[in-house]
Amino acid sequence: MADELLDCIVVGAGISGLATAKILAASGSSVAVLDRKGLAEETSSNSLRIMHGGIRYLQQLDLFRAGRSFRDQCRIFREYGEFVRELPCLMPLERFGMKSRFPATVGSLLFRCVGFAATGALPTSRVLSRNEAEKSIPALSSLFSCGAFSWSDGQLVDPRGLVSRLAQEIESGSGSVITECEVSQIRESLKERRVLLETSIGSLFARTVVLAPGPWVQRALFPAAPYHGLKLTKAFNLVFRTSRPLPCALGVKTEHGRLLFITPRDGVTAVGTWYSQWNEPIEELKVHEEEIEQAIAECNSRLSKELFRREELAGVEAGLLPMKRVSNGEPVLFGRDETKASGRVISLLSTKYTTFLSLGERAAKEVITLLNTHS
Ligand SMILES: Cc1cc2nc3c(=O)[nH]c(=O)nc-3n(C[C@H](O)[C@H](O)[C@H](O)COP(=O)(O)OP(=O)(O)OC[C@H]3O[C@@H](n4cnc5c(N)ncnc54)[C@H](O)[C@@H]3O)c2cc1C
Repeated sequence: MADELLDCIVVGAGISGLATAKILAASGSSVAVLDRKGLAEETSSNSLRIMHGGIRYLQQLDLFRAGRSFRDQCRIFREYGEFVRELPCLMPLERFGMKSRFPATVGSLLFRCVGFAATGALPTSRVLSRNEAEKSIPALSSLFSCGAFSWSDGQLVDPRGLVSRLAQEIESGSGSVITECEVSQIRESLKERRVLLETSIGSLFARTVVLAPGPWVQRALFPAAPYHGLKLTKAFNLVFRTSRPLPCALGVKTEHGRLLFITPRDGVTAVGTWYSQWNEPIEELKVHEEEIEQAIAECNSRLSKELFRREELAGVEAGLLPMKRVSNGEPVLFGRDETKASGRVISLLSTKYTTFLSLGERAAKEVITLLNTHS
């Protein structure tokens, strides 16, 4: 491979890089996807695993993103249905304000219209009476004095299976997957119409490069790196062993105004996501004991129950995500995925796992345009 000039090298085999390489390999382009570690072992293995159907964007009145997210979710079910399942979700309603019965009923109708317009399929959502909601989760009936908003989201149940499938698809097309290969520098040669990548396995050459290194996109791997110095947010979930799994997912707002999602998984319950600013080196990512204690207390105080106990904590899933700015001491994440081109190098910024197919498709299209323009 060292002497070969590939159409594209994708740096980073997280979910975004794998999706990009899979689409390029299916189109017949010669492509290799490289990772300094294994496949999707960083941010992509720490997601809460919700394949968002878009309802959350309705609260911000972002109808466009709500429709697009529902379309992304439907596509995952259609193309990778064996790795996801439908996840029934509930959110307690409040007496007054945007989360009370009337706005929730209008929101449900609007969401169905937006979903139908985006895909031709109807998303599941409705407002439940107090009685119906209490019956859904009897152990937490005190949360539902004003009823609940009910909807259906997607949940990734087999992340490793999905990643292996993508790798197989790359290799059965015109692509290859290379692990334990770290890229340290990228240089574009205008004269030779190619890009040189210095890597831990030697120099590699390609006509184009897609940079999908997750948070490492803030590193200046090449002179014009558009996300050099990008600020990051630490995000983490807590995973508990439980003998009393909830029958559905539950979205609750804590006293700090944070929306927490409690999701049943196989034999465990995952709760997330907590966010805080991160100014340290990426390799030093850590969730401190005090943060864990605080997070458990915050969650239990909202549920008015000792539902989660420190001794039942089975794991902490943490990663770094792109941050836009800080508002009132809280990090504001990037709202949307992005791609930015600089010469023959396209950099990706992923904000959600859910969008891996559409983001990969966008990056692959840009590569094909570059290949056609420069051929
Ligand atoms: C706690 C948490 C909860 C989340 N929950 C959800 C959720 O419920 N639903 C949802 O849709 N999204 C969720 N997300 C967001 C989602 O996980 C990310 O947007 C997505 O996984 C990013 O994938 P990626 O491929 O861009 O990055 P990554 O998964 O970080 O992949 C980047 C890869 O690049 C490699 N790499 C880096 N530098 C180099 C280099 N120089 N050379 C070679 N390889 C390199 C890394 O090893 C890594 O494997 C969550 C994120 C976190 C952290």
